[in-house]
Amino acid sequence: MSTGATRAVRLTRWGGPPILTETARPVPRGEEVLIEVEAAGLCRSDLHVIDAGPGALPYRLPFTLGHEVAGRVAQRGPSAVGPAVGERVVVHGPWGCGSCARCGTGAENYCDRRTALDADRVGTGAGLGRDGGMADAMLVPSGRVLVPVGDLAAEQAAPLSDAGLTAYHSVAMIRPALGEDEGVVVIGVGGLGHLAVQILRATTSARVLAVDVREEALALADACGAHFGTLLRPDTAAALRSRTGGAGAVAVLDFVGSRSSLELAVDVLRPGGELVVVGSGGGELTVRKPGALPPGTRISLPFWGTRPELEAVVSLARDGVLTVGVEPFGLSQATEAVARLREGRVRGRAVLTPD
Ligand code: NAD
Ligand code: ZN
Ligand code: ZN
Repeated sequence: MSTGATRAVRLTRWGGPPILTETARPVPRGEEVLIEVEAAGLCRSDLHVIDAGPGALPYRLPFTLGHEVAGRVAQRGPSAVGPAVGERVVVHGPWGCGSCARCGTGAENYCDRRTALDADRVGTGAGLGRDGGMADAMLVPSGRVLVPVGDLAAEQAAPLSDAGLTAYHSVAMIRPALGEDEGVVVIGVGGLGHLAVQILRATTSARVLAVDVREEALALADACGAHFGTLLRPDTAAALRSRTGGAGAVAVLDFVGSRSSLELAVDVLRPGGELVVVGSGGGELTVRKPGALPPGTRISLPFWGTRPELEAVVSLARDGVLTVGVEPFGLSQATEAVARLREGRVRGRAVLTPD
């Protein structure tokens, strides 16, 4: 049962491309659990990882990509906890030390020992320095990182574990600021952004104003319930301001993080507003007083989300409140999926399923 080969999409050198290879099917030891993968989402962070220069990330090569994973428990190590063999789950991908105070509450995304783990080049989690889920099977360090999904379709479930979770965590950071009809700007309506729009509509009464550089993404924003959508143009800040009573938006969720998106964010934010930088697009902000940032601005840099938040996201999806826009690919089409994402030709999330 536990022997034989498994296919995996592996990053073997910085700059890529990732390669589909056969590796030995892992055997769970101790607390480990083997998951038979049903679906794995492709995130723009995968492109950032593939494109990173040697030494830029604290990861050892090679490793299997895939940090958004849904599957079925196939085999448990002798001291495994959590879901039983046969149960369908998503993987909570940020893997911390598992024993600090943060990890104890399921906030492994903010593990107290992260600096030490990085110094040892242990990896950030599934598919990020450690073998992930773009494979037929995947090992997780413990059943504690598994969240049951019941009969949710695998292609819907997998993207919840990062695109959905990170969007939910980002919205949680600004929830107290989002009064009725307050304007919140969502920049970048891709994998994360289209779920953020849905989460904002389902859990707040704010006005959701979406910005993208692609018409197709704005159509998706509209389908997800955004009140207004606009392409990024020189007059976009003015257009957004006029939709927020002239004062500006109380919050901006930037799912791009590039120079142009951050410039727009700063331009459209009202004093005392919330700027949430989620995207890793290489842009920089200067924090100086006085400076370009409106007075009273609060900035957050969320990373992924907690396990209890993942449970909340799964439950929204199971209630039919959250629907992922999926572009399906076979595992053997990983290279094509990566190329499509790079070219900006994915609507919602590209999801790989073993073929
Ligand atoms: P994606 O490619 O699916 O979506 C990005 C969207 O932004 C696309 O629709 C694109 O057209 C749009 N866009 C690009 N440039 C723009 C601009 N200047 N202004 C407005 N829109 C623009 O990417 P994704 O998978 O949703 O990831 C988004 C970002 O978030 C990436 O940088 C990724 O690495 C990062 N990310 C961060 C976390 C975290 O924990 N902080 C987690 C996952 C992903
Ligand atoms: Zn990601
Ligand atoms: Zn920890």
